[in-house]
Amino acid sequence: MIARLIDLVFGCHHSRYSFPVTIRGAGRRPQAGALTGTYVACLDCGKEFPYDWQEMRVITSQADKREYVASLATKHAA
Ligand SMILES: [Zn+2]
Repeated sequence: MIARLIDLVFGCHHSRYSFPVTIRGAGRRPQAGALTGTYVACLDCGKEFPYDWQEMRVITSQADKREYVASLATKHAA
């Protein structure tokens, strides 16, 4: 019940993910991989999330996405 509530509020909060998959070419391109080019799938609910290889972490929230995009901008500016 609590977990279900957390899922509703924050999206997926499971901790078991597949090995990160890097998308190559223009074939299958899941939405989750569009951001970083790499994604993982939750082994519990099957949701797909962008994965940041540089930071070695899963991007699960909008805040994380903004942070990732901001860090990219910083790297490009440097
Ligand atoms: Zn999940």
